[in-house]
Amino acid sequence: MNGNRILIVEDEPAMLRGLKDTFTAKGCEVLTAADGESGLKLALSAQPDLILLDIMLPKVNGYEICRAVRQQGLDMPIVMLTAKGQEEDIVLGLNLGADDYVAKPFKVRELVARVNAFLRRRKSGQDGVTRFGEFVLDLTAHKLFRGGREVELTAKEFRLLAHFAAHPGRALARNDILNAVWGNSVMVTPRSIDRCVTTLRAKIEVDPHNPIYLQTIRDVGYRFEVETET
Ligand code: CA
Repeated sequence: MNGNRILIVEDEPAMLRGLKDTFTAKGCEVLTAADGESGLKLALSAQPDLILLDIMLPKVNGYEICRAVRQQGLDMPIVMLTAKGQEEDIVLGLNLGADDYVAKPFKVRELVARVNAFLRRRKSGQDGVTRFGEFVLDLTAHKLFRGGREVELTAKEFRLLAHFAAHPGRALARNDILNAVWGNSVMVTPRSIDRCVTTLRAKIEVDPHNPIYLQTIRDVGYRFEVETET
């Protein structure tokens, strides 16, 4: 994490201080803001490598910050710090451009691991190929291979998997997936995604009922995990 610049926007002093200490100790340059207005200013002017963003903030809330940052064309990862059991808020934040979330109270180790993964991916370039486990997804050839042998996918399954592979580690809301993969077709519902995920899992997961790669986020959507966490 050394040398990465992280912005933390959080109005609860103890939480802000704790997070600042944690990421400073990991070698990050840490910028902090205790309200949304100064947080947004810093996000736009300092262009951090990643933003940890509380949602309920004085002056300007986290949603407005997400929206404003993306409107400015900035694409750094945004990880929301949310309250537990607020799935609608989480989905709204994801729709507005956040990449992921952790629900308070969270384990610091888990947050650090997530942040680390986002920063590492940001540094590694894209070559049109995504590897996960023994799989290679070749976006140019439109093919999925397992240990060198092709795995047959339907066109829908491929597009869905390619969408997941383009957003590794991100929490993806159902309606965002729907728009990205199915477009404006009126014939599909969120259930269409669930069905496609089910058939995809049968092809790539060792145990489709206990998936490693295509993880369900209850009441929100899905997350594609390519890295095994410790
Ligand atoms: Ca707050």
